[in-house]
Amino acid sequence: MQHHKILLLGANGQLGHELATALQALGEVKALTRTEADLSQPEALRQSLAHITHSFVPTVMVNAAAYTAVDKAESEPQVAHTVNAASVAVLGELAQTCGAMVLHYSTDYVFDGSGTQPWQETDTPHPLSVYGQSKWAGEQALAQACAKHVVLRTSWVVGTHGGNFLKTMLRLAAERDSLRVVADQVGVPTSTALLGQVTVEIVQALQSADARDPRWGVYHLAAGGETTWHAYAQYVMAGAQARGAVLKAMPETVLPITTAEYPLPAPRPLNSRLNTHKAQQTFGLELPQWQRGVDGILDALFSK
Ligand code: NDP
Repeated sequence: MQHHKILLLGANGQLGHELATALQALGEVKALTRTEADLSQPEALRQSLAHITHSFVPTVMVNAAAYTAVDKAESEPQVAHTVNAASVAVLGELAQTCGAMVLHYSTDYVFDGSGTQPWQETDTPHPLSVYGQSKWAGEQALAQACAKHVVLRTSWVVGTHGGNFLKTMLRLAAERDSLRVVADQVGVPTSTALLGQVTVEIVQALQSADARDPRWGVYHLAAGGETTWHAYAQYVMAGAQARGAVLKAMPETVLPITTAEYPLPAPRPLNSRLNTHKAQQTFGLELPQWQRGVDGILDALFSK
């Protein structure tokens, strides 16, 4: 197997933290956090990365950094676009110059959530929010800057490191007797462990591919099955209690509400289902049901 040199950005996020370990299966990993690579300053980023890539010379660049504060983005559109699009173009240009491939992540929020069919890569994005727009702009900027790129569009990312819905639900369930959770948005939680493993498999599959290989491009990548935030919260509560957690709220005291009953600055897509056939067929991936990923996180959180 080829020994890669991997430059990872966003190493302190949910996914970045997982990747810092998972990518070691491919070779040497140089993991950068916001301190070493700030995506809100594209020109400074270009200079610092040019300096790093001059001596490190990566074969793979992986971008797990992103402006992910979906509601805050509505009042900070410029920052969101700079981090999620302008700086992604810079990364792509540097990768193109040094011949590295780029792995990048995007979101179900590029779609408007209409209908009930799982979204395919051939469907036209129509983001409802500034965050979704900025991520869609980032996908296009990367494709334009760098031929050897893969964008994995995923959904409802959850891991042991950092903040996420699962941890928020556990915190609230420890404080309150009942919770109200949105039950009309359908999607699937995807664990950082699954994303890390798939990223490694895709790099291996494409390590000898040249710039004209038809496999470069966008893929939908999420765990199997589907659920709602409400059913997901109930599953988390039951799983935590089964592992000995003491909670005030019970699965049956998680009450379903509609999106309209819980207004937020950024609109969310109602249908976040992603059709993952393209990724499965192209790379021969096995994508387990979402419960497996969530179980793994609950095991890790309640192992002590
Ligand atoms: P997190 O919010 O956990 O991590 C994002 C990371 O990006 C953080 O480490 C953060 O740094 C870093 N970051 C933010 N702004 C900057 C900046 N200006 N310069 C450098 N680094 C910055 O996100 P996830 O790990 O959950 O997301 C990974 C990817 O998956 C992203 O591309 C996201 O858009 C996508 N995605 C996420 C979903 C989710 O539910 N979370 C759903 C679908 C897709 P710091 O630690 O210093 O704050």
